[in-house]
Amino acid sequence: MDLAELATKLQSGDRRSLARAITLVESARADHRAQALELLQALGQQNQALRIGLSGTPGVGKSTFIESFGLMLTGQGLRVAVLAVDPSSARSGGSILGDKTRMEQLARDPRAFIRPSPSQAQMGGVARRTREAVALCEAAGFDIILIETVGVGQSETVVAELCDLFVLLLAPAGGDELQGVKRGIMEMADLILVNKADGDLKSAAQRTCADYAGALRLLRKRPQDPADYPKAMMVSALEQAGLATAWAEMQSLANWRRQNGHWSTRRGQQAEHWFREELRRGLLAVLDQQPTKSIVADLGLAVAAGDVTPEAAAQQILRLLHKG
Ligand code: GDP
Repeated sequence: MDLAELATKLQSGDRRSLARAITLVESARADHRAQALELLQALGQQNQALRIGLSGTPGVGKSTFIESFGLMLTGQGLRVAVLAVDPSSARSGGSILGDKTRMEQLARDPRAFIRPSPSQAQMGGVARRTREAVALCEAAGFDIILIETVGVGQSETVVAELCDLFVLLLAPAGGDELQGVKRGIMEMADLILVNKADGDLKSAAQRTCADYAGALRLLRKRPQDPADYPKAMMVSALEQAGLATAWAEMQSLANWRRQNGHWSTRRGQQAEHWFREELRRGLLAVLDQQPTKSIVADLGLAVAAGDVTPEAAAQQILRLLHKG
């Protein structure tokens, strides 16, 4: 593969080249990995897209929302990429998020790019792949990158470390319960959108929205944001209602952070986070290589048999690594 040609085509916004490049960064083969790193290095970091993380449990309307919201944005002349972080897809062996039939119209839009989730079992692998795919979409000149995830704990943390804005999509609740949304996830949200605020569900959506607005007020304020954020609002992805307002809120918060320096600070912190993650992964990989792997296995048995204490065994390995 001619990497220079791939880079040039990708930078001109060619979607097929972007798709090929993402396939390259997803590959676990050592020669592909080397090419992927070379490509990413060559592309550099010239463009910055607005990266929006979107989370919500299955059925709340993520794909309907992305289709409506994405089409609204492309209608304004913006280029929109959709990526998915979906660790659970490994279970079904395929992709559940990003399945093109879910966003049929958007998938056909020349200003949009939709990438299904790869089937990778390991969260660390998914994180790296998504991070690199985001960089590739930015290099390809996309204005908005939507990073979609199902509400399953770990994947939110990954998305939060990848995006500039985090949007939580919820459905109207039947009663007055807060739908079991974990506090940690609420704390990540810059905007809570209560979807399906239409027809029979409208009054339930109003109640749910008020409940969440109340819950958000109880959370610790963020010094880097205006006092009225994070916010809760209602939308109907199906009827395309409230989407323009939601977009205005996202832009307004993003602009505020840009103007006050919080945007670049956060991107810097995220880069540092990923540096440490890569380092951690690299160290763990070293432990898994010979001869260390066998020594760890033997020491594991010795610890289990009570011949060595866990601490002393760990110290032995650490000393070994230190010398190496
Ligand atoms: P996802 O699993 O989060 O991607 O959810 P989907 O987008 O597939 O939507 C799940 C179901 O909710 C589908 O039957 C949609 O038609 C429906 N739905 C999505 N958005 C809305 C909405 O704004 N209003 C109503 N009434 N239904 C919606």
